[in-house]
Amino acid sequence: MNYDIIVIGSGPGGYVAAIRASQLGFKTAIVERESLGGICLNWGCIPTKALLKSAQVFEYLNHAEEYGIKVNGGEADFGAIIKRSRGVADGMSKGIQFLMKKNKIDVITGVAKIKKGGKVEVKDAEGATKEYSAKHTILATGARSRELPNLKQDGKRIIGYRQAMNLEKQPKSLVVVGSGAIGVEFAYFYNAIGTKVTIVEFLDRIVPVEDEEISKQLERSLKKAGITVLTNAEVQSVDTSGELSKVQVKTAKGTETIEAETVLSAVGITPNIENIGLEEVGVKTEKGRVVVDDFYKTNIAGIYAIGDIVKGQALAHVASAEGITCVEKIKGLDVSPINYNNIPGCTYCSPEIASVGYTEKAAKDAGYEIKVGKFPFSASGKASAAGAKDGFVKVIFDAKYGEFLGAHMIGSNVTEMIAEVVVARKLETTGHEIIKSVHPHPTMSEAIMEAAADAYGEVIHL
Ligand SMILES: Cc1cc2nc3c(=O)[nH]c(=O)nc-3n(C[C@H](O)[C@H](O)[C@H](O)COP(=O)(O)OP(=O)(O)OC[C@H]3O[C@@H](n4cnc5c(N)ncnc54)[C@H](O)[C@@H]3O)c2cc1C
Repeated sequence: MNYDIIVIGSGPGGYVAAIRASQLGFKTAIVERESLGGICLNWGCIPTKALLKSAQVFEYLNHAEEYGIKVNGGEADFGAIIKRSRGVADGMSKGIQFLMKKNKIDVITGVAKIKKGGKVEVKDAEGATKEYSAKHTILATGARSRELPNLKQDGKRIIGYRQAMNLEKQPKSLVVVGSGAIGVEFAYFYNAIGTKVTIVEFLDRIVPVEDEEISKQLERSLKKAGITVLTNAEVQSVDTSGELSKVQVKTAKGTETIEAETVLSAVGITPNIENIGLEEVGVKTEKGRVVVDDFYKTNIAGIYAIGDIVKGQALAHVASAEGITCVEKIKGLDVSPINYNNIPGCTYCSPEIASVGYTEKAAKDAGYEIKVGKFPFSASGKASAAGAKDGFVKVIFDAKYGEFLGAHMIGSNVTEMIAEVVVARKLETTGHEIIKSVHPHPTMSEAIMEAAADAYGEVIHL
């Protein structure tokens, strides 16, 4: 019952922290109240990507003739798509069970709460409690779908992401409120398999954290695919009394009512910081998140927090990187704080979006004089061959010293291409070093080299 490290929550923050802790020789336990793998593996990153793959396969079939292939009709089997996605998630969760065993990490099932003096109390499904003690406790309890007062989720007519990936029946019509990564991924998925989709975004553009040009291109692509996109639009109320829900939306033109079978609230997340003992132990929180230093220490000795419950991008790879950093620091290794401006962000709708570093506006706001280069996939041989000419790569450099400030991509497979520029930024690469790194032909990644060349007036294929 005595551990060096107890991790609470087994998402990509918690389970990765636990594995690294075990590698470093700590006697480690992890507590989980649901399935191992957290939101990411069970209700987030992985099952959504399985759904999106089904949508992509269906789109391929629908456009097969463009590739010279005749297909006699195709049908999206909603139940089978959901079943496949759940199967993929279950398989991944079992994989984490294996990893815990392999790394000799004790898995404790139940709801955990920290107590004073390095104690962790765990209540099991029958309500029985057990107490454990640890020199270090890492909180990695993640987050849940955020509720807005005028968009209360009932799980049936107004749903959150969990229900959206596990519905029994495909809705004929869907209003997606919020156009961040989660919102547009579901909008793309449901539209691709035949649901009539409307996106309602409060701000003046969709995927508002991305570079403005990316937002514009995505809006064009989603509209072309048949999705209705309303920006500067605020949901005022939802009336669920009739057969169809009536969503009252205030836009610049006045108030309009959209009827839909289902409404998906995708307006962000709320960190799980309640009932885990923070108040009793005196752990400081601010704006709904646990306050930590650069190495994820809270104000209370021996208590740490990582992942969606602390500030920073709410992404799986961020949670994992924080877990590793936190544990390595506990071990006394020479670690550097994470640079949050070097974190890639990906959205897996079609076309995909991937970005890292400064947007054009952020770079200007930060006082940089910039050079911008852009290369459209319409000029890429590989993109033409693949039938994927939508989109572009945009890169931003500091005009004075050539520092690589940011990259923004939209198009097919860009979520696989972004890692190259993440490394480039980490290594503080300049524009010319990218231009002089010979890229393989034909690949979509040549567009990165060409975009960098464009910034310096050296582009070849434009
Ligand atoms: C629909 C969707 C799609 C997403 N897609 C992506 C993506 O493509 N890429 C990406 O990087 N990110 C994606 N995310 C975000 C990603 O899932 C989260 O950032 C990530 O899971 C956060 O990891 P975490 O370890 O902080 O917490 P979580 O993964 O949320 O895990 C926390 C775990 O703690 C457990 N827990 C909570 N309280 C207790 C307690 N008291 N006792 C015991 N256990 C407890 C929970 O049951 C949960 O299993 C997506 C999220 C959603 C919702």
